[in-house]
Amino acid sequence: MLVTLNEILTKAKAEGYAVPATNVDHDHNVRAAIEAAEEMNSPLILNMTPTANPDMEFFGPIAAEMARRSSQQICLNLDHGKTFEQCLLGVRSGFTNIMIDRSTLPFEENVKQVKEMVDICHALGLTVEGELGHVGMGDNYAVDGNQALTDVKEAAAFVEQTGVDALAVAIGTAHGAYKGVPKIRFELLHELRDAVPVPLVLHGGSGSGDENLARCAKEGINKLNLSNDLKRAAIENLVNRDLSGNAVYQLYPLLAEGFKNKIKHYIGICGCAGK
Ligand SMILES: [Zn+2]
Repeated sequence: MLVTLNEILTKAKAEGYAVPATNVDHDHNVRAAIEAAEEMNSPLILNMTPTANPDMEFFGPIAAEMARRSSQQICLNLDHGKTFEQCLLGVRSGFTNIMIDRSTLPFEENVKQVKEMVDICHALGLTVEGELGHVGMGDNYAVDGNQALTDVKEAAAFVEQTGVDALAVAIGTAHGAYKGVPKIRFELLHELRDAVPVPLVLHGGSGSGDENLARCAKEGINKLNLSNDLKRAAIENLVNRDLSGNAVYQLYPLLAEGFKNKIKHYIGICGCAGK
């Protein structure tokens, strides 16, 4: 069934586990992700970024329909809506959660723009994720991993002033493949968990290490964004095969199988199997 982020994360926060948010860009990997959720009896969040899905107005409703037909709770999340227009296109395209990323703006402006989107989405029965602090890029980790970490007092004020349903925080992860080893600030995570009343989101889960991520899921993170690791697993499931002759027809099934198995692995790490 297609649900909002709240319907999945309120329970996750109350019971202390996380739910994977998997970046999808193709009907094969949407299907693979939903199958992973069904086989693990788990809720799941499908992320689509406007940059990777320029045709989301066409593809969003298809993914929403696939989610609607599932036995599991599936949220369709617009990941990193960078402009007002992109966010509204997400609303029109059937997304049930809008992640509005104004994390590079000054605090007051971030609050103003996120609150505007919260007012619109709540009126329509949708939920919203904001970001405070800034999660940078893994290939610039020496710089991005150490700056713009989320401030605890600001985070509490941000949630109160915007009314967001979930908050993405910067605690030492980064997007994409890492150059260097990620250092996650667990003490900061604990302080945020205790100070912020809404579920917390970790972007840049890929490459952060299973042990770190399992700990994050237990200690305050409720939504875990994953992209790079899933694509890597899909490719690795393909490259060492004998694809001669008619085996070429296995191209998409093999990619989907690798993608699905990695999501099932992360459902285990997050602690949301059977939830
Ligand atoms: Zn992100």
